[in-house]
Amino acid sequence: MTTLKQKWAAASSSTSLKATSHAAADTASYRKAKNRLPGLAVPKSTTPTTKPPLTFPGQLAQSTVRGYATQKQATAYIHGDKLYDIDKVRHDFPILNRLINGKPLAYLDSAATAQKPAEVIDELTRFYNEYNANVHRGVYKISEEATAAYEEARAKIARLINAKSPNEIIFVRGTTEAINLVAQSWGRANVGLGDGIILTEMEHHSNIVPWQLLAKERGAHLKYVGLTDDGHLVHEDFRQHLESGGIKLVTLTHVSNVLGTINPVREYIREAHKQGCRVLVDAAQSVPHMPVDVQDMDCDFLAFSGHKMCGPTGIGVLYAKKAILEEMPPYHGGGEMIREVHLYESTWRDPPYRFEAGTTNIAGAIGLGKAIDYLSEIGLRNIQAHDQELTEYMHEMLGKVKGVKIYGPANPRTKAGVISFSLGDVHAHDMASLLDEDGIAVRSGHHCAQPLMDRLGVSSTTRASVYIYNTEDEIDRLVESVERAGRVFKI
Ligand code: PLP
Repeated sequence: MTTLKQKWAAASSSTSLKATSHAAADTASYRKAKNRLPGLAVPKSTTPTTKPPLTFPGQLAQSTVRGYATQKQATAYIHGDKLYDIDKVRHDFPILNRLINGKPLAYLDSAATAQKPAEVIDELTRFYNEYNANVHRGVYKISEEATAAYEEARAKIARLINAKSPNEIIFVRGTTEAINLVAQSWGRANVGLGDGIILTEMEHHSNIVPWQLLAKERGAHLKYVGLTDDGHLVHEDFRQHLESGGIKLVTLTHVSNVLGTINPVREYIREAHKQGCRVLVDAAQSVPHMPVDVQDMDCDFLAFSGHKMCGPTGIGVLYAKKAILEEMPPYHGGGEMIREVHLYESTWRDPPYRFEAGTTNIAGAIGLGKAIDYLSEIGLRNIQAHDQELTEYMHEMLGKVKGVKIYGPANPRTKAGVISFSLGDVHAHDMASLLDEDGIAVRSGHHCAQPLMDRLGVSSTTRASVYIYNTEDEIDRLVESVERAGRVFKI
């Protein structure tokens, strides 16, 4: 296979010119966006914010750690006019300086949560140091600054997923809350006795349990699309469920958090719309990793989490089409979501504010805005290509280890960033503990997808997932460590 190293080497020759022009273009688009908020300016930093990274007991000098992680690779990667400098990216993440059991941290658990670049960490500090205030309430300077930054973050999200308007973007705590919002607001108003909701057997619990709660309350039925043995959806199941009638909603994940399968959501949405059903896409594992365009996809709802895309925890997004949001009743009641309140009744504001009761996670939203700047600077196509290369490499190398079984699609090109595997009868927790001894962080367990585990006939798997800061060397370390586990457990 052509390695990442070779591709980086081939790409690295013309990087600096492109980097310069891209930076200039980005500054221009930032100014243009800022100008769309009349009268409110996003505050400029008045203090230098980049601080030396935190140090931990047993930490190596940065250069040594970075030398270890990058010694075998070239440094640049380009798609279109975007520069991807893996060395720079790694330097942006202070946590990658940590040593775990005397070895550099190889973080291969980004499907659970992604690490944060210094730019995002600094922006959170800057918010609290310089313009912490509640939004949409104050008429004083720092409240106006906070409001501008909060609304600018909403606009950045709208641009990232190509929503028609920032008003289609609702800030929530994460994917889980976004799905619960749809179930409790749209679902209660639209799903009734005998109606059907189509899901798939590869959903995360957060795209199953809210629908179970709704179905129980409304007397509706859940219908599952099954999986083929190599982890793809059984299209025929979907068609049969759709044709059975009475289906109000199809809700499915874009990318499986266990198998990495990329589902053909566009096709499913087209078919569902022909039958008059709404479609929710759980994009927790796709928006961080690839370009997602809600207008092209034509989904009705899309949910994702900030923390899986270099943003803070406690902030996420529900996108919904404007016409649907306008028909939806509030989810939570409280301050800021009302037009007027009287003793026995109230009226609501327009979306998105109708769905953002109380003081929201202001710092989180601003931090997510900064994370989107960061990812956009690298380029979502670059990120997708990088993740794809590493996934293919990991699939190939792990697949060669004696006793390893990889779950999901046999063709790694249909997977995004995630590989679940087992080694003989070694328990996933034992595997993850052994990898941790080598400084490698992976997830073990059922990955909040117990119905999928049942389908696979296992109680748990070990999952390695990659993101922008991972390298081929880290995959080599993973493979060596899995081989060591094979020797320890005599597989
Ligand atoms: N959906 C998928 C596919 C996920 O991978 C996750 C988290 O791992 C979630 C939903 C839930 O996301 P959160 O815990 O951020 O709400």
